Amino acid sequence: MDEHYRELVAPDPELLLELFSDEIFNKIVESNICLVVDDDGTISDSLSIYVKWLSRKLRRPVQAEDCKRYDFLDIDPQALGMLKTEVFPNAKLHKDLPIIKGAAEALGKIAKAGVPIVILTARPMLRSMIAVTKKHKEDNNIPFDLLIFSRRKREIIKAIKKLGCQVVIVDDDPNVAIEAYRLKDVTVILFSAFYNMHIEREGIVRAGDGPVNHDGWSVVLKEVLKRLNKP
Ligand SMILES: [Mg+2]
Repeated sequence: MDEHYRELVAPDPELLLELFSDEIFNKIVESNICLVVDDDGTISDSLSIYVKWLSRKLRRPVQAEDCKRYDFLDIDPQALGMLKTEVFPNAKLHKDLPIIKGAAEALGKIAKAGVPIVILTARPMLRSMIAVTKKHKEDNNIPFDLLIFSRRKREIIKAIKKLGCQVVIVDDDPNVAIEAYRLKDVTVILFSAFYNMHIEREGIVRAGDGPVNHDGWSVVLKEVLKRLNKP
């Protein structure tokens, strides 16, 4: 296990840069780029366990393609509430999540190119969940320099931006994508999913033609590599 892996839990965005280790701080400044990547729906295929759980709970078949809304309102008015109470905080359920196709390979190449990788997740900040999230990445050869747990994604991205580097974010959450897109000089890569196909903005890069069998990670790799060594 690499010793330099670090995590920040609910950091105050105003103090974020002070909380960075010298190592990550210098790496971002020197490479002039930072990749900020979400976990669920981007690295981890969490939707597969959510739909399985909802099927059992609601006693009817629920498929990933039925989830056309990020808040699960098209499945059931109570679906999101039930997931928030019983599934999202359950570390055990997140222990062996499948990895989205191409994520480990693309992030491996990005890390090798010297690009700092920050995983930014809004997962519940329970000790068990933090441990599982970290171990899951290590077990699946997902490289990262820093793991940040925060629901204040826009503010965290803004804080990293203060380093003056290029910031590239990858997320499947339509709200995060729109919020980040409104920040100046942030490259937003929206990772295609059934619940975000309605989002269309000039300037938002879409990773994956569609939600099925898409190759979003090759788009991410290409977008990051072409920004290397640019002022
Ligand atoms: Mg996500």
